[in-house]
Amino acid sequence: MTLCCLGIGISGSREVAIGEAYLLQQQTPEINQRQIPTEQVEEEISRYRHALARARERLSSIRQHIPGDTAKDIHAFIDTHLLMLDDGAISQAPIELIRHHLYSAEWALQVRRDELVSIFDEIEDPYLRTRKDDVDHVVGQVQLALAGGVEGPSDDLTGRIIVARDLTPADTILMKHQGIAAFVTEFGGPLSHTAILARGLGIPAVLGIHQATQLLLQGETLVVDGAQGVVLAAPTPQMLLHYQGRIRARQRREAELRRHIDLPAFTHDGKRIALFANIELPEDIPATLHNLADGVGLFRTEFLFMNRQTPPSEEEQLDSYLAAVEGLKGIPITIRTLDLGADKTMNGNGNLPSINPALGLRAIRLCLKEPDLFIPQLRAILRASARGPVRLMIPMLSSLQELHETLALIEQTKQALHRDGLDFDPQIPVGGMIEIPAAAIVAQAFARQLDFLSIGTNDLIQYTLAVDRMDEEVNFLFDPLHPAVLYLIRNTIEAAMAADIPVSMCGEMAGDPRFTQLLLGMGLQELSMQPAALLEIREIIRNCNLKDLGQRTREFFSQIHQEDVPQLFQRLFGHP
Ligand code: PEP
Ligand code: MG
Repeated sequence: MTLCCLGIGISGSREVAIGEAYLLQQQTPEINQRQIPTEQVEEEISRYRHALARARERLSSIRQHIPGDTAKDIHAFIDTHLLMLDDGAISQAPIELIRHHLYSAEWALQVRRDELVSIFDEIEDPYLRTRKDDVDHVVGQVQLALAGGVEGPSDDLTGRIIVARDLTPADTILMKHQGIAAFVTEFGGPLSHTAILARGLGIPAVLGIHQATQLLLQGETLVVDGAQGVVLAAPTPQMLLHYQGRIRARQRREAELRRHIDLPAFTHDGKRIALFANIELPEDIPATLHNLADGVGLFRTEFLFMNRQTPPSEEEQLDSYLAAVEGLKGIPITIRTLDLGADKTMNGNGNLPSINPALGLRAIRLCLKEPDLFIPQLRAILRASARGPVRLMIPMLSSLQELHETLALIEQTKQALHRDGLDFDPQIPVGGMIEIPAAAIVAQAFARQLDFLSIGTNDLIQYTLAVDRMDEEVNFLFDPLHPAVLYLIRNTIEAAMAADIPVSMCGEMAGDPRFTQLLLGMGLQELSMQPAALLEIREIIRNCNLKDLGQRTREFFSQIHQEDVPQLFQRLFGHP
C-alpha cells in the first residue's frame, strides 16, 4: 500500500525524483558514562588522537573530491568542519577530561559536545542556532572513528534516494558526487546547511519526516516531491505515471523557456518589466547572468558574516562587493546592509539575547546600535559604488527616526571617505525595505526621503499576520493573499508611484508564478527573485496584458470582502 509522508520540501533546479530507497545505516554508537584505570590514560589519549586524525582524513578526502564547479560556500562547509576538528574545544578539551577525570574518550567527547551545544542553544538567531548541527556532525565523525567505524556507504548510489536520520554537509556532497537522485531526512529545517546545500547542488529533498528510517524500507520505490514536501513510498502505477509526467513536463518547460531566454520581459502591451535576482554570495552571480537578470535586486550580505567568529573587515567586504559588481559586468546591484539578528554572542560581545529575536535587535536596529559593525560595511559598499552601478538598501525600517539616523551615518561616512581620498559614487541611490507593517502604512513618508523602495514580503507577511516564518506549526497561516497583506503592498506601491520613485518586491512572493499577474495588476514593474525563478516569471510577463490585469485587479480588490479570497483569486487569476 502506498505510504505518503509530509515534510519540508527543498527544490532548486529539479523538483521531483523517483528512485530506489537507500537507508543509510547511521548507528551512532551508544555513549556510556565510563571511567578508565589510571594506567590506561596515555593509551586512551592516543586512541582519541588517532580517531581525530581519521575523522580529519575523511573530511579532507571529501574536500578534495568536491567537483570543481561547486559553489565556494560548499567548500566552506567542509572547511568549517575541519577547523572545528582542530579547535581546542574538540582537539584538546576532551583530552583534559581523560587525563584528569579518567573519562573514556567517548564519554569525554560527549561531555564537551554537550557543553558546546548548550552555548549554541542560547543563541537567538535561528540561522546561527542551527549551526549547532555542525558541532554534532563533527563530533559524530569522531565518535564513529572511535567506534572503529564506517567510511560511508560503498554501494553504488547512482539514482538512489537516500533516507537518513540526518546528513552532514560532507555526506551530502559526497553522495551528490556518487549520483544520488534525492534525499529524505528525519531532521533538519529549511535553514539547515543540508537544506542550503540541497538547493545549491540541485538535489530534490524532503526534510523533517519523523521516523523516516523506520517507515521507509530498503530498496522500495520512492517518489520525492521537493516542491510539495511529499514522499510517497510504494507508489501505485498511476502515481508513478503522474510523477514521471511531471519530471518530463519540467524538462520540456525548462528547454522551452531557455529558447526564449533572450526575449526581454515586455508585456503584450509593450511595458518592460525589470527582473532582478536575489543573491546570497558573489558565487550566485553566474546563475544571475545565465538567467539574464536585469541586475541584482537584493544581495543578502549577512551570509558574509555567518559561520565565523569575527565580522569581515572593511577590505574583506570590499573584495566581496567588488567581486559581485565586477562579475555583473555593468548591470546594477542592490547591496542590502546587514540583516543579522541577535548574533552578537558569536562576536564575543555578550549582550543578553532578545526574548523574541524577530522583534528584537535585528537588521538596521543592530547596525545603528553597533557603529563598529555598521560603518565598515557602509564604507565598503560606498567604495564598491565607485566601480559600478551600486544601490544601497536598508532592511527592517520601522520609523523615520531610524531612517534619519541611517541617512546621517551614510552622509558622515561619505565625508570620511572623501577625507581619506577614497572614491565612491556621491549619487549612490539609497533605498529602504518595506517589510514591517508600520513602514508600509506610512510608506508615503519613507518614499519622500528615499530613492527607491523594495517590498520584503517574507517579513511583511510574518509581522502583519503574527506568524513566525520559521515555525513549522503555524506555517499554514502564512498567507500572501490575506487582504491585510495586499492592502499594505498596494499602499507601498502607490506611495512610491506618488513620489515618482521605483518600487520593487524582493520577498519570495515576487518569484512565485501564482502571484505575478496580481502584482503587475497592482502596478509593480520590478521584481527580484532567486535566479532559478527568472525564466518562468519572464514567460508569464510576456503573456500578460497590463490593461487587462489592471481591470482584474481592481475587481479583485472591490470583491475582496464579499467573496472567499482563494476562490475570487482563482476566478480572476486562474490559480488556487
Ligand atoms: C523579506 O523579508 O521578504 C526579504 C526579502 O528579506 P529576508 O528574507 O532576507 O528577511
Ligand atoms: Mg526581510
